[in-house]
Amino acid sequence: MKDVWRPAIAQMTGYTPGEQPRPGTPIIKLNTNENPYPPSPLALEVLRSLDSEWLRRYPTPYANDMRQAVSEVLAVPIEWIMVGNGSDDLLNVIIRAGAEPRRPVVYPTPTYVLYPTLAAMQGAEVVEIPYGDDLQLQIAPLVAAQGAVTLIASPNSPTAHVVSLADLRTLAAQVTGVLVIDEAYVDFADETALSLVQEFHHVIVVRTLSKGYSLAGLRLGFAIAHPDLLSGLFKVKDSYNVDAIACLVGAAAMRDQAYKDECIAKIKASRSQLAADLQQLNFKVWDSQTNFLLTQPRDQDAATLYQTLKDRQILVRHFNHSGLADKLRITVGTDAQNQQLIATLTQLRQPDCSRNGSIEGAS
Ligand SMILES: *Cc1c(COP(=O)(O)O)cnc(C)c1O
Repeated sequence: MKDVWRPAIAQMTGYTPGEQPRPGTPIIKLNTNENPYPPSPLALEVLRSLDSEWLRRYPTPYANDMRQAVSEVLAVPIEWIMVGNGSDDLLNVIIRAGAEPRRPVVYPTPTYVLYPTLAAMQGAEVVEIPYGDDLQLQIAPLVAAQGAVTLIASPNSPTAHVVSLADLRTLAAQVTGVLVIDEAYVDFADETALSLVQEFHHVIVVRTLSKGYSLAGLRLGFAIAHPDLLSGLFKVKDSYNVDAIACLVGAAAMRDQAYKDECIAKIKASRSQLAADLQQLNFKVWDSQTNFLLTQPRDQDAATLYQTLKDRQILVRHFNHSGLADKLRITVGTDAQNQQLIATLTQLRQPDCSRNGSIEGAS
């Protein structure tokens, strides 16, 4: 079939997600930044005791139970909160509301590879402004690009760095259009830009329960912004964009901050250990305020190493993009998973054993 969809759709390539083997597959999955720990036991209890009425009826259109939980935890009024089917849904709604031809989408690179896909769906022009050396945000060119929507992931993927609050404030003060701060990894970071939504009514902060709360399969995220800004997005979203189960389970997870904090503390400790171990193996490792590490194997080809690890049932992420082709993004797993990765990498460095798939005997 040809020429059935808009030319913009025919021309775009579509998003390539990381590999998702079925749960239970014996694989060490360090490729899509999931949290290696289970979700909150309180959230699982809500799931188990769910009354069938919740399934028979339509959910509340605005996911009010979830909004209430976010409101309590972050001390933000309910009217400032919008819930989405993952933060990808919210990013999609924002781009649909804001971007079209001659209303460009602007973002620094490298960053989340979904952004250009969302812009392409709208036929919107994309302006990419590369980060400087040492990953400084290039504020003047970002402003000059005059985006209808400017997107900053902070902490960013795949670089793992945080854009300073000072830089984000400077950008917010100068940028035209809407400024989206994608805080998917904020739970692993030392700072947040949430305060900017009060200072600037054209700023939206987007968060997710996929990473910090171990709920990537549930699909739940939320946006925080001035109610006048959100009102345009409420017109664009699906009428029931968050299912009843996600809303109830997510609210319980959100309220269980103690459990989340415990998991985050473990991941941060594992992150330090993994970074040190990789450095020992001659990897360059960038500072991380996320649950993954951007790494560069100094004495091996990254694409080959990605495949070699995959052959040994360890999945990491390799991006065939400019500036990233010599790097690997590695999600921080449990200590046992990280040690397995390190053992495998250690074994691969010993020429005698490198053709042997087994990791037995690796130290
Ligand atoms: C994972 C991720 C998201 C998507 O989160 P979902 O809520 O699972 O859709 C958004 N932005 C960035 C930068 C991410 O890494």
